[in-house]
Amino acid sequence: MLIPFQSIIGQEKAKHLLAISFQRQKMSHAYLFRGPAGVGKKTCAQAFAALINCAAPGNDEVCGHCPSCLKFHSGNFPDLLQLELQGTASSIKIDQIRELKKLLTYPPFEASFRVVLITDIHITMRRKEVTNSLLKILEEPPANTLFILTGDEAGDILPTILSRCQIISFYPLPYERVAQALMREKIDQDTAITLSAIAEGSLGRARLLYQEELLPLRREIIENLLSLAPDHPDTVESVFRLAEKAAGMKDNLEELLDLLTIWLRDVMLAHKGLSARVISSDLRACLPEACRKWDFPVLAEKLQRIDRARRQLLHNCNRTLVCEVLFFELL
Ligand SMILES: [Zn+2]
Repeated sequence: MLIPFQSIIGQEKAKHLLAISFQRQKMSHAYLFRGPAGVGKKTCAQAFAALINCAAPGNDEVCGHCPSCLKFHSGNFPDLLQLELQGTASSIKIDQIRELKKLLTYPPFEASFRVVLITDIHITMRRKEVTNSLLKILEEPPANTLFILTGDEAGDILPTILSRCQIISFYPLPYERVAQALMREKIDQDTAITLSAIAEGSLGRARLLYQEELLPLRREIIENLLSLAPDHPDTVESVFRLAEKAAGMKDNLEELLDLLTIWLRDVMLAHKGLSARVISSDLRACLPEACRKWDFPVLAEKLQRIDRARRQLLHNCNRTLVCEVLFFELL
């Protein structure tokens, strides 16, 4: 896919630094794009690879119709090498690095710059022998080859790798830019605004939350918590059903608990008359009922219950049981 360089959302500083280094032909042989997940590091790397190989770039943008641009467009650009995790592997395999090394002994097929993209190196470079092999390549970089590594700001990245790369910082995106991008993807305004705030400026995380259908389940849980009467016989059945659904979220159960925490925080804000700062804007209509039902000390207690559930999950307690107990406590 051909990604126009200027279509990258936000990250003005990173784009400027890269564009200047390209214009002046003073590119580093290795960059590390560092910042939170889901803010455009990989997309920017792919767009930059297209820009520096475009035959007629203008105003820091690809032309869109030269042979190189067309190859990017059809996904057949032969000189973009991307190293990714295979299957459920926890690190890139040493064979992948060996294969890369072999390819690098040849000149690029046709490109001005061959680009090697290695994403999430704080995860993919967990094995020492893999890191050491990559370091050797970075120490003696082949001609006309640009390495772009991406990594989480919070993740551990070896100082020896850091010292061989020019670091380009990426930052969380402004919430309104994330919301606009989501609306362009046909997500309704209320949901888009809520997602952008919950994802704290990460478009990738916002998309993930949307795809995993976490928001509808969170709404169902909250509406039930507000409407169920603790001593009604049907309540037990409803809580069991919701707990089973929540436990079925697997890797996303923690996200779901985060969403419930944010919601309770929002109810606290509403109690203090700070409704304008509420994050869960799609659930605004439920706020008055929640304020009537739960006073401040009750909300504080419920937050502690969620915290306890989180700790229990970390210790591998039975997920369905943890959710059942939690939802009864949240009623
Ligand atoms: Zn072009």
